[in-house]
Amino acid sequence: MDDSFSSEDDDHLFDLDYHPYARKRPLSSRLDRDEHDETDDEETNRQKLYLVPYRWWKETQRSVADQIGGILYTVLSNDNYADSQIVLELRKEESSGDRVKAEEGVSGRAYALVNEALWLQTLKWHNDSKASENDARNHIVAEDQSQEVFLLQIRLSFSPETNSLLVKISLKDNTVNLYQRACCIFSSESELLQIWDFSGQTSQFVMNEIINLPNISSGKPGKEGELALAFGELLRKLWAPGAVPVAPRMFKCKLAKFAPQFSGYNQHDSQEFLAFLLDGLHEDLNRVKCKPYIEAKDAEGCPDEEVADEYWRNHLARNDSIIVDVCQGQYRSTLVCPVCKKVSVTFDPFMYVTLPLPSTTMRTMTLTVFSTDGIMLPTPFTIAVPKCGRLKDLIDTLSVACSLRNDETLLVAEIYKNQIFRLLDEPSDSLALIRDDDKLVAYRLPKVSETYPLVVFLHQQVERSYSFGVVASNWKPFGVPLVARIQDLSSGSEIRNQFLKLLCPFLMPVEDVVNDYDGNETGNTVNENSKMEDIVSPLVSDSDVGSDSGAENDFRLNTDFKFYLINKLEPLEIKMNKPVSISRFTKKFDVSVHWSEKMMEKYDTCLLSSLPEVFKPQLFTRRPQESISLNKCLEGFLQEEPLGPDDMWYCPRCKKPRQANKKLDLWRLPEILVIHLKRFSYNRFFKNKLETFVDFPIHDLNLSNYISHIDSQLSNCYQLYAISNHYGGMGGGHYTAFVDHGHSRWFEFDDDKVFAVSEDRIKSSAAYVLFYRRVREA
Ligand SMILES: [Zn+2]
Repeated sequence: MDDSFSSEDDDHLFDLDYHPYARKRPLSSRLDRDEHDETDDEETNRQKLYLVPYRWWKETQRSVADQIGGILYTVLSNDNYADSQIVLELRKEESSGDRVKAEEGVSGRAYALVNEALWLQTLKWHNDSKASENDARNHIVAEDQSQEVFLLQIRLSFSPETNSLLVKISLKDNTVNLYQRACCIFSSESELLQIWDFSGQTSQFVMNEIINLPNISSGKPGKEGELALAFGELLRKLWAPGAVPVAPRMFKCKLAKFAPQFSGYNQHDSQEFLAFLLDGLHEDLNRVKCKPYIEAKDAEGCPDEEVADEYWRNHLARNDSIIVDVCQGQYRSTLVCPVCKKVSVTFDPFMYVTLPLPSTTMRTMTLTVFSTDGIMLPTPFTIAVPKCGRLKDLIDTLSVACSLRNDETLLVAEIYKNQIFRLLDEPSDSLALIRDDDKLVAYRLPKVSETYPLVVFLHQQVERSYSFGVVASNWKPFGVPLVARIQDLSSGSEIRNQFLKLLCPFLMPVEDVVNDYDGNETGNTVNENSKMEDIVSPLVSDSDVGSDSGAENDFRLNTDFKFYLINKLEPLEIKMNKPVSISRFTKKFDVSVHWSEKMMEKYDTCLLSSLPEVFKPQLFTRRPQESISLNKCLEGFLQEEPLGPDDMWYCPRCKKPRQANKKLDLWRLPEILVIHLKRFSYNRFFKNKLETFVDFPIHDLNLSNYISHIDSQLSNCYQLYAISNHYGGMGGGHYTAFVDHGHSRWFEFDDDKVFAVSEDRIKSSAAYVLFYRRVREA
């Protein structure tokens, strides 16, 4: 037997029957079905690949300027004599392109998988070199040559269990003689065997299986496998040699037929589309024709492993398709009744994982902090607080943000129409009571003053209106109220002194004031001031501001604010040299401050008047970008949480709907893991898109810490191979995709344009759906 195999020269050739399901009609047969009958199609159009010694390919390539990049597989062989077949398991080398290049052809037993054109080239090279060699030796034995090159029938298939390609050489496909020769070559004891794919076919194997397997005869009624056929057609166009951009019109048309929600040219959600497509392909390709009815058994007391396997077997009994093989995993979902502690465990399949972004549980709020120390100007702070948090969370976070000192407290107030609309002083109040368009301020107050009455200063300025040639003047509120806690109310000047202290930060720079006064002396401001004395208003008295504060310094003499105590009846002017007439039990009272036009110029009132909203969604500018790791999103997803009040669970023991605690765990992971980042949130009132930057791993997503069931046979490591990006907001926007074309060569697909893109550019806040595939443990 060994004699017939020329061992010093590895010149042998295999015909690799690439088509894995010979009984099915191959893809290419549809191209020209009119010209041939079915049998002819099967034979002539069967896609064949050829396995040749790597050296042959290398020799042939010497004459070719641009060498084709290949995919390297390491071969694990397993000759099963009982079944009379050799099974070679092809495991893709996950190394980078550079390493692969360096190792090219290192193994003495390397083979190359080539297409027919390349095979003919290598055969020609082989024959030419043999001929010249034989010429030199001057003996030509035609029979010897024919023995060196022999045809061996090989079948190639994909094993979803191990995520590897299987090459099977069986006795029933070949003659005994050839099978034995194959056994010698591929014996498992021999040194490392490697196969290079230069045909570009093996990476598309999964897709080809889809193309070849439309379940035309038994799809869902009305569907008839049309979706899978249309999708297969689209893939064929996309992967055709000399590929050009493809407009998927036919496919879209077919899709809209089954899913009218995707008709028209509005923007749709790429994740919703994916979910629909995977479901549809699964139904079309489901090998189960008649779904058996399976009664759920009570699994109480059984180990989780057994229950999970039982669930999975039942699922597979009804659902068996390449989509299930490749894309589906299993969750463990645990519900605990908060009353009777009844635990219910179920194991449900999933096709993709939808991860909440932390911002859906957090919200940003902007508050303006007003100091009362007479030094700092009001400053807005934007903080992130839990959506379902309490006022205490807000105050704690804001205290840190504004570096609140230990001897200070924050008083949060909502401002509406230049007044304090309400004080937020109950720490346990829900933050849900604060709306995005509210305007909030926080006053920093000394802790020691907490028991003193709170004085709220409300600003008023003169507003003139002209009608029928008559000038009418009125007092009109403006600006954000200032507050102080004042212990000593024995004279009105205490009120004024406190107010002037609060205003200090708002004083215009001196040179500006001087310039203003320079101008005013020749201008009409003085006249305006004198006119103000004539304003007919019940609120303005003729009281002499300066006279009762003669002891005060110049700075205070130069002010002419008037203060009125607001009580239920009518404003009462506060006299500087008289006690403030309020009850000693009063905890809070309002003081209306009248600003003369002179004072309006002396202070920068703009700083007092601009107040941002709690949160302003902006159409064209992005929110300050938050960054979060994918692991944090996973933790949020797997965190135990109570069901919402609209989503109660019927407890079988209490016989009542209960707001159970729910906990999800990953149990069984799929080969292809689709992760959907929940960027879009909808509720009854508004729709929102989160621009959070999610930092996701590209090469080493390890889910070992998140899976509660350890299957030592399978790896929990994943590598990213594609991203669906969404740019823009809710109504419109634009989708692009990043795809790894192997060996970390990333491309950006933007409509009909394709660009190479470096790997460090693929992470962005546009990433919406992430596609990972399982790799061996690092
Ligand atoms: Zn219960």
